[in-house]
Amino acid sequence: MPSDANHYVQAVLARNRRMMAKTITLVESSLPEHQVQAREILNLLLPHTGAAARVGITGVPGAGKSTFIENLGIMLIEKGRRVAVLAVDPSSKRSGGSVLADKTRMEKLAARQEAFIRPCPSGGTLGGVAQKTREAALVCEAAGFDVIIIETVGVGQSETAVASMVDFFLVLMIAGAGDELQGIKKGILELVDAIVINKADGDNIPKVQRAQHDYAAAMHFLRPSSPAWTPPVLTCSALESRGIDTVWQTVLDHRAKLSETGEMDEKRRRQALDWMWMLIEEGLKERFYANSKIKKMLPRIMRDVEKGVASPTEAAGEMLKLLNEQAAG
Ligand code: GDP
Repeated sequence: MPSDANHYVQAVLARNRRMMAKTITLVESSLPEHQVQAREILNLLLPHTGAAARVGITGVPGAGKSTFIENLGIMLIEKGRRVAVLAVDPSSKRSGGSVLADKTRMEKLAARQEAFIRPCPSGGTLGGVAQKTREAALVCEAAGFDVIIIETVGVGQSETAVASMVDFFLVLMIAGAGDELQGIKKGILELVDAIVINKADGDNIPKVQRAQHDYAAAMHFLRPSSPAWTPPVLTCSALESRGIDTVWQTVLDHRAKLSETGEMDEKRRRQALDWMWMLIEEGLKERFYANSKIKKMLPRIMRDVEKGVASPTEAAGEMLKLLNEQAAG
């Protein structure tokens, strides 16, 4: 139905919010006919994407993500920008119980015409959720949103997934009482372009300053992901709207530096390729497990490998051959 797809495309390009939401619903749908239509629409929207600044924000529940994003969003709108916020929360299978889908979050920002806030579906595989989030982001970009904020709670591999779809990835932290580095998830420091310690207000200020010092020392031991960029450790008070402008200026500086060296284009090209590979790998896995011959053979082959009757190499080869046969036949 090409005219139908065009109808969606024209409406999204005309910044029609209702149609934007409908398009994202199509993107998120698991019905095959919706997926076909969503693919057609996305292909037509793709040439109209790419200009937005894509920013990822992670942090434990309570770190102040929604307070931060709300104030950042309003600040950006006041600078004339249009801000879309997509929240990825693979921790919950039901959106009803989701940490991020809470309707009362970011009410002030949600009320603005220049803002678009949407929780992403939380069911399914992380790869699936990540794909839908990327595609929802493309719809927002085509609809003229020039800042896309992708928010996640740091669970499972969601941080890696979000880091792989944004230009700038930051972690919002809070200063703890004891060893500052206890609370940090292993591997996160390698992903981030900045650490922002929130709640730098009132009695908390000395604690935040100590944490800033400790994190800066920890970052010192890491090899920066880019020769042009060393991730800074910043502080802010989301509640009192202090320091948020510095965080945004850091995003802009990073953008300018990496654009100058060509790294930004390179990063996006690499992300596009990584995305393709992830989809291929997930597709192959899906086909493997859905293959009826494989399904039938799998229990026996697994038993044989366990008992040592068949070698793992031989068993794997045999199963993969079945995948080929099915594909050929
Ligand atoms: P999220 O779960 O990461 O989205 O965190 P919220 O934005 O919901 O914030 C959790 C709690 O911390 C709320 O009670 C906020 O009012 C509070 N909070 C957020 N930012 C700040 C801040 O900068 N300073 C202080 N003192 N409290 C804050």
